Amino acid sequence: MYMCGLDEFISDMTGTQVWTLNEDQRGKYFVVSLSGGKDSTAVLLKLLEHEMLVHEVVYVDTGKEMPEMAKHIGRLRDQVEAEYIQFTQLQLEKPFEYWLGKHVKTKGKHKGKKGYGWPDHMNRWCTSLKIQTLKRYYKQLTTEHETVEFIGFAADEIQRTENNKDSRIKEYPLVLWDMVEEDALKYCYSQGYDWGGLYDKFARVSCYCCPLSRLSELKYVYKNYPELWQDMKQMDVKSYRQFRSDYSLDDLELKFETEPERLSLFTA
Ligand code: SF4
Repeated sequence: MYMCGLDEFISDMTGTQVWTLNEDQRGKYFVVSLSGGKDSTAVLLKLLEHEMLVHEVVYVDTGKEMPEMAKHIGRLRDQVEAEYIQFTQLQLEKPFEYWLGKHVKTKGKHKGKKGYGWPDHMNRWCTSLKIQTLKRYYKQLTTEHETVEFIGFAADEIQRTENNKDSRIKEYPLVLWDMVEEDALKYCYSQGYDWGGLYDKFARVSCYCCPLSRLSELKYVYKNYPELWQDMKQMDVKSYRQFRSDYSLDDLELKFETEPERLSLFTA
């Protein structure tokens, strides 16, 4: 286990935070990979609550986050920086719209064509870009430090830890603490972090323009954030393919305007 607890006695005596480090932990650089969702937020908050050693928090911003998520990240950033921990906010190398509609493909059967178009289950290029952005940053970090990454996979997602193996040193605190996804959300709420109620409306808090969102979630965006919907329509013009295989944005508008209201947002 790489998480290091505070040595309360020595910290008290010296008036400065001192952690107890075993041989495996000594000299390591501890980084929280923050997605902004409930699981990685729970990891970060619990490490802070228990004064465990964290050197840096890294977050990748797609530029397409819900406004509530942007606020949530801002609050976390303030809390992290108040503890004198570095908060690093990475951006995609180029904006989301560039990859959607402008990037000229250099390989594969679509070589020479412009833009990846809207993502789908088979082609989550935007997720890959986030992962690459993070990987590039970790590559740079590991040239300077022996880095340990704390990742927010919950105890009911153990399979994901198996699929996430590479040369980086990774630790999954929620698995060690036996916290399932539901526990993570409850814990964040207990610490005063509620994403402005987003988790009451969305099963997965993702980009507002995500075609993989549930219909009920897209409807929520359409009904409550006209400016974000407008942004999606501007992006749509740049995409070589329709928003989803079953619905264009126009189809969705018609559907949302004409269908009766559902009782639950989680039925679509
Ligand atoms: S949430 Fe959707 S749009 Fe955003 S990065 Fe993931 S797949 Fe892409």
